[in-house]
Amino acid sequence: MALKKDSNSLGSEQEKSQNKDSSLQEFKNLDYKKEIESQLLEVSKGDDNENGFLDFGFNKSILKSLINKGYKNPTPIQKAAIPELMLGRDLLGQAQTGTGKTAAFALPLIEKLSDNKELNAKVLVMTPTRELATQVAESFKSYSSESSNFKTVAIYGGTDYRNQISALKRKVDVVVGTPGRIMDHIRQGTFKIKDINCLVLDEADEMLNMGFLEDIEWIIDQLPENKQMVLFSATMPNEIRNIAKKYLNDPAEISIKSVKKETQLISQKFLYVQRHHKLDALKRILELNNEGVIIFVRTKLLTTSIAEALENSGHTVAVLNGDIPQNQRENTVDRLKKGFINILVATDVAARGLDVERIKLVVNYDFPFDKETYTHRIGRTGRAGRSGEAILFVNQREKHFLRNLENSTRTKIEEINIPSNKIINEKRMDKLIENVNESFLAKDENEENKALIIDVVDNLKEKYSMDDSSIAMAAINLVIGNKSFFVNDDDSWINKQNNSDRNRSNRNSNNRMRNSNRRNNYQNDSFETYKFNFGKFDGVRVANIISSICNSTNINGRSIGKIQIFNDYSLVDLPRDLHRETKNKLKKIKVRN
Ligand code: AMP
Repeated sequence: MALKKDSNSLGSEQEKSQNKDSSLQEFKNLDYKKEIESQLLEVSKGDDNENGFLDFGFNKSILKSLINKGYKNPTPIQKAAIPELMLGRDLLGQAQTGTGKTAAFALPLIEKLSDNKELNAKVLVMTPTRELATQVAESFKSYSSESSNFKTVAIYGGTDYRNQISALKRKVDVVVGTPGRIMDHIRQGTFKIKDINCLVLDEADEMLNMGFLEDIEWIIDQLPENKQMVLFSATMPNEIRNIAKKYLNDPAEISIKSVKKETQLISQKFLYVQRHHKLDALKRILELNNEGVIIFVRTKLLTTSIAEALENSGHTVAVLNGDIPQNQRENTVDRLKKGFINILVATDVAARGLDVERIKLVVNYDFPFDKETYTHRIGRTGRAGRSGEAILFVNQREKHFLRNLENSTRTKIEEINIPSNKIINEKRMDKLIENVNESFLAKDENEENKALIIDVVDNLKEKYSMDDSSIAMAAINLVIGNKSFFVNDDDSWINKQNNSDRNRSNRNSNNRMRNSNRRNNYQNDSFETYKFNFGKFDGVRVANIISSICNSTNINGRSIGKIQIFNDYSLVDLPRDLHRETKNKLKKIKVRN
């Protein structure tokens, strides 16, 4: 070590002073390392980890940002992927969102770019949706928040080009974007790619599902040949393996099968409810749990009408749908994270990739189109190792979909009843008692108020000769207010519905085996074919059609069925029973302008 070297053995004074400086620097680094170590060990207390993130050799800024985030231990995917990526290896990873995969690739890439002073981007991350692009860019920003002059830019469709162009003109380290918009910027020359030395394909299977294969291949062909490639995918179908074979160079392969573990943390339930009772059932469910809830519905129109109804019942609600501009959506998610709103009513597309740790309950108000949509929806809860609950509303017609869903997800979804007046009233009572008790426990927090309360109690005793218990009763009465405390709406429909549905479901179970083949095709039965007047002659490709439909309507990419492109028209299978408003939007969609 330089510190122990005999200074006499050095030549000139200049060398001596240089050596002194570097020794000092080393001292500082050691000090710094100790400080970080002690902080990390402090935050890790109680966990059975060894050195947590220290073992990866990250620089101090990254370690600091991890301390800020409160991360203690690397997740399994991080443990496996970070060392490989730090060595510059290509990587093929099978992992879902929720496993910590973003940090698994973001941290080593930030580390590698820590001294980057050049203007052009070095890393490109491609994601299937703008929601995921924003989320991944946010992660890069937070992990590099302590690194000076580190810039991440997100570029995705549906928003103005100008801001993106001016961001790309300045110094940028990492660009995160969706394939279509990345292509546009490359073509226009507004995204300079000549210095890209790492490409990450995030949720690659989802990008293929959305028909982006050609776009991805086009982009890869434009990038410099010598680059590190990272491919993450939740599933590993042959198409993904083929891409890996074609583009990745001797990749490290990592598979984190945490899907089961993740969904195990989510207790999955369903309840039978007829269509005209759905809103009432929802309100009753929210009586039991209304802090950190996402309600999934099929149409934008429903998001607003349900949100209005819930707001009228006194809930703090916001809406997330495709009509809402991106910046407003980000604002809504932020308010949800901070607890300013408790309930979000969302469509599938708008809530894709949403990552809010305080979500405790997901309500599938409308039945999801397919297994993937369901898995994605319920995955909005049970984040970062927390537990969560998911409730699925099922009507008469959807019962066979339920069984199908259970089979395909290999999960037993437990039946629950719609809460009756009795259950709700018990809950209200418990809550009131809890609140009064909490308020008693917290009474010492504000000395000024404490003095005031004692003053009021003394006054009541003196002026009106009230005893302690009558004062307590009067105070509780004041808290309850004028509205009737207990619900007494007619709830006879709940029992009738539960019983009749259960009987029917028993009867039906005998027919289940016979019907199972037909049920397996339920997705096909639920499609309708639409004809569009553009085709091969217009240069239209599958990806163009999917992204136009997704961007102009609330239809989820996954719920789009078969697409056939003929010379001057195209046939697209879309979910049956689309809302009139959605159909009108479909009439007006433009593909490639
Ligand atoms: P991802 O799989 O990248 O979508 O991450 C899922 C969630 O886990 C995000 O909320 C991350 O902030 C969080 N997360 C990632 N790594 C860690 C970690 N090592 N410790 C705690 N939380 C983490």
